[in-house]
Amino acid sequence: MGKVVVNIKGVKCCAFCKYWWDPSCRYIQPYQRDQWSYDNAAKCRCIKRSVDTLAYASCGNYKCKIEL
Ligand code: SF4
Repeated sequence: MGKVVVNIKGVKCCAFCKYWWDPSCRYIQPYQRDQWSYDNAAKCRCIKRSVDTLAYASCGNYKCKIEL
């Protein structure tokens, strides 16, 4: 577990969701073009579902916080 690089156009994980309470974006980092890295061991509050979720989790309410 740790930093992994993904194409944010192809993933719907909590780390990149606007409902995941990481306002300073400390668990995500731009890498190149649409590639971003994130810390998949991180856990934050989902303010949509009111539960703590892991960065690599996902659900049908996903909304990307990054403008694509
Ligand atoms: S659980 Fe769903 S709504 Fe909540 S942060 Fe993750 S993808 Fe977004």
